[in-house]
Amino acid sequence: MRTRARSRIHGFADIETVFLDRDGVINENRADYVKSWAEFSFLPGAAEAIARLSRGGKRVFVITNQSIVNRGLVSRAAVEAIHRRMVREIERYGGQIEAVACCLHRPDEGCSCRKPKQGLLLDLAGEHGLDLGSTVVIGDALSDVEAAIAAGCRAILVRTGRGSDQLGTEWVDDLTVASDLGEAVDLLLESPLTAP
Ligand SMILES: [Mg+2]
Ligand SMILES: [Zn+2]
Repeated sequence: MRTRARSRIHGFADIETVFLDRDGVINENRADYVKSWAEFSFLPGAAEAIARLSRGGKRVFVITNQSIVNRGLVSRAAVEAIHRRMVREIERYGGQIEAVACCLHRPDEGCSCRKPKQGLLLDLAGEHGLDLGSTVVIGDALSDVEAAIAAGCRAILVRTGRGSDQLGTEWVDDLTVASDLGEAVDLLLESPLTAP
């Protein structure tokens, strides 16, 4: 395989559904948040990678924490407008995002949907009839991985965004790591049908 990423125990051959974190996976993280479409910048190759997932028959959803709304920095409508535009741009590449699930709460609100909680994942599964056992979460933060594990999904950590900073934690040794979304998609689409 041309990538350096490691594929773990069960591989990904049975994956039907992909949950993508947004900031640091699809678009560049901003320390001051993405507050408008002008501040949204696709990471290199991300839109193309999502298109490959769609062409490969995977169902693709986005799960994102946007506490920026309940912090009062932007309106919910503004965040939804960013997501509509993001989905439309990805469609131009041939990618299909079925839904964007978004937690608007601040950490101190103690909601059940802010990752590392699994609420967003469970809600999507209920609304769209998804099998979480054949779902993988791709994220750049340990909170994405924790949400995946809590929901019974598999996970891939990407090194983009905050990803590289998360590595070095002991239990990450056991985790599948990819350099970016494109390489994570390689792992999903090239996964062998039988485990070694
Ligand atoms: Mg992120
Ligand atoms: Zn929430």
